[in-house]
Amino acid sequence: MITVVLPIYNEEHGLQAFCLECLEVLRQTDKPFELLLVNDGSTDDTLKIIRQLSSSTQEVKYIDLSRNFGHQIAISAGIDNAQGDWVVLMDSDGQDPPSEILNLLREAEKGYDVVYAKRKSRGQEGLMKRLTAKWFYRLLNKITSVPIPMDVGDFRIINQKVVKALRRMPEKQRYLRGQIAWLGFKQSHIEYDRRSRAEGDTKYTYRKMIRLALDGITSFSNWPLRLATITGFFCAFIGLLLIIYTLYSRFVLHDYEPGWASLMITLVFIGGIQLIGIGVIGEYIGRINENVKSRPMYLINESNLEDAHD
Ligand code: UDP
Ligand code: MG
Repeated sequence: MITVVLPIYNEEHGLQAFCLECLEVLRQTDKPFELLLVNDGSTDDTLKIIRQLSSSTQEVKYIDLSRNFGHQIAISAGIDNAQGDWVVLMDSDGQDPPSEILNLLREAEKGYDVVYAKRKSRGQEGLMKRLTAKWFYRLLNKITSVPIPMDVGDFRIINQKVVKALRRMPEKQRYLRGQIAWLGFKQSHIEYDRRSRAEGDTKYTYRKMIRLALDGITSFSNWPLRLATITGFFCAFIGLLLIIYTLYSRFVLHDYEPGWASLMITLVFIGGIQLIGIGVIGEYIGRINENVKSRPMYLINESNLEDAHD
């Protein structure tokens, strides 16, 4: 069986057409399938549309989360409740073309555990989005020890081995493309042209994007902490030179002035560096805190699955 997991947040305008397109494609495979819609606390009529779809088509299953938990957690909820031996992860806004599911499946059946879809082109996405994404992927790759494929979103197919492994990763900060890279197994990829969003605007605000980026970095790299230490050493070294110079000009050259300007500059500079260091440590501690609290990652409000669990 194939499960297609669709995270959905306020997609009332394009959802119906997109689901029908998915169903059409899935019927072309000879396998049984289910379309698992995860409503991530939508505030529009998305849930109504989902209920209608699921009552008219028995292959449509859904989970309604108790509030907006974010894209990555919505996908995780789908993975936790998927029944297929193959699970496809894709966006529900029409950017990931359903016809590629067949290509993913074909490649996977050659004997791979993960086949991810690499974007050849990104449709009509803003320059800002494309540039920040590009830089981010390259930075992340430089500072992590697991190679996370570049220009790859969550669009992919994974098998039971990977699904089971992901269910055993309880971390609260989800960065699935990194987690799946970390798992290993046999991975391959196909290339595809990303379409433009069918209806509405991006649901990834800059805030959500920054959060995802920070989760990706902190989950897979301690480099920012190391950088804080290195900067500290560097500043301490400069400070040492300054001390020597000050003592020299005071006692040897007897040339000393009130020196307010230089004092202020160093003070502000060192103060800034220290705050950055504390901030970096804070980012990590905050994440440790979230994990230590061990609250459930998400809560389910309603579902048409018999044994939906959070
Ligand atoms: N999404 C979600 N929860 C959120 C934000 C987005 O489930 O808090 C879903 C959204 O409905 C879409 C997918 O995640 O199916 C990707 O979001 P979007 O297309 O807005 O992001 P972009 O493609 O612009 O990066
Ligand atoms: Mg999109």
